[in-house]
Amino acid sequence: MSDKEYDLAVIGGGPGGYTAAIAASSKYGLKTVLIEKENIGGTCLGHGCIPTKTYLSAADEVQAIKNGNRLGVMVNEADVRIDMAKLHAYKNEVVGKLQDGIMQALTHAKVDYVSGTASIRSNMAIDVKTGSGSELIKTSKILIATGSEPCKLPIKGVDLPHVYNSNEMLEMTELMSPLVIIGGGVIGLEFASMYSALGAQVVVLEAMDRILSNMDRDLAVNLKQILSKRSVKFHTGAEVSEISKAGFRATTALEVKFKDKKTETETTVPAQTVLVAVGRKASTEDLFDKNCIPTIPSMERGRIIVNDRYETDVPGIFAIGDVTGGIQLAHMASAEGLNAVAAIAGKEQLPIRTDVVPACVFTDPEIASVGLTADEAKKAGIAVKSIKYVTGANGKSVLTGQERGFIRILTESETGKVLGAQMMCARASDMIGEFSSAIVNGLTVDQISMAIRPHPTFNEMIWEMTR
Ligand code: NAD
Repeated sequence: MSDKEYDLAVIGGGPGGYTAAIAASSKYGLKTVLIEKENIGGTCLGHGCIPTKTYLSAADEVQAIKNGNRLGVMVNEADVRIDMAKLHAYKNEVVGKLQDGIMQALTHAKVDYVSGTASIRSNMAIDVKTGSGSELIKTSKILIATGSEPCKLPIKGVDLPHVYNSNEMLEMTELMSPLVIIGGGVIGLEFASMYSALGAQVVVLEAMDRILSNMDRDLAVNLKQILSKRSVKFHTGAEVSEISKAGFRATTALEVKFKDKKTETETTVPAQTVLVAVGRKASTEDLFDKNCIPTIPSMERGRIIVNDRYETDVPGIFAIGDVTGGIQLAHMASAEGLNAVAAIAGKEQLPIRTDVVPACVFTDPEIASVGLTADEAKKAGIAVKSIKYVTGANGKSVLTGQERGFIRILTESETGKVLGAQMMCARASDMIGEFSSAIVNGLTVDQISMAIRPHPTFNEMIWEMTR
């Protein structure tokens, strides 16, 4: 056992943890160690954002080839097929490259890296179980960034073969169809968009009365219409009760039973594969050595509670990202990581505003949203004006054959300041940052329009609608 002493030990090497560790060392000069039990990059890189976006990029490619005939690129649609094993290998290559990049950045920033499972003994000591034994790490401060993991659905049949969570789905080397997705949230819809584009039949079962219940209603309604046109089937208000093996004459492996909450009728849908995407829970299992640590930080439903400077109620132990609940997004975790190390370094003013957080759904078309929605403004009694732009007038959208979409900006009636924006169009995820920046800096629509955007681009839509 070796003893090492640090100013800061970060537990968890996802976007929150590695961003924090790099900033702690390179910006604030803290002697920093990062402890990770799997691979560097966390859920985002290993089982989330990057793998799904790699698959979605293959789905886009398939669609582009199929649409090619319109532009004179002649292909036989029947010849277009997806080799999932090859796509899976490509995904691993992408993940590997990005993991190498992060490891280089850590080395460059002089962050020590320990591969192993951390168990917190006190607010100044961590045991790490490594492949070759164990290591004791002594540290002045601890930053927990252990993320989250998929929630398990408490129904019969979830442990059957071919029932997967999103991590497991991304390791499949065959395209299984029909795919039944339980949960019409962000993960469910990204998989629905990607799998339907790759050629699978997809059924989405959502418990609430609409998909994407946390997002603007218009975005959800439009996306549902577009995906339905592509043969994705939706059942909302669906109470899933059981997954079972299909009868011996069936052509699929499984059946999923659900009750329509309105009509009380029970239906069974066939499935070759079931994806359970019903949310994620904080990862805190075995994080604290309960025999040693005098006090464990307070938690609420498994999430670690922190104050506005990311400190728990145990002095010296901080936490950020999914493990604290709140908004479970990679960029939110990175922002919180940067703020937390500024707080740990004693800075009064934290560098990032975390009350304005863009959210994106990487379906085709993409959805992006930031700030207030019309419903939220109404509930809060804020008088707003709305500007809506329909993408059919945009040259780049027309020439690339995009689906109909829209951009909506909400401004405060009295001042004209931008309070929120919702987008459903190509490259929405690349453009929503314009509105984050506008909201954070208190810009009005007139101020947004003062800057020229190039033509012909998707981005010029923002200029056209604001001038
Ligand atoms: P989610 O909360 O977005 O959606 C889960 C959905 O499942 C909800 O609509 C819920 O009503 C439904 N549901 C719950 N129990 C159900 C049941 N028994 N039957 C049917 N439906 C049920 O969660 P998620 O999609 O699992 O995503 C988890 C987290 O990861 C989210 O916070 C999400 O924002 C984040 N994430 C973000 C991105 C992105 O930014 N593009 C991508 C993937 C995941």
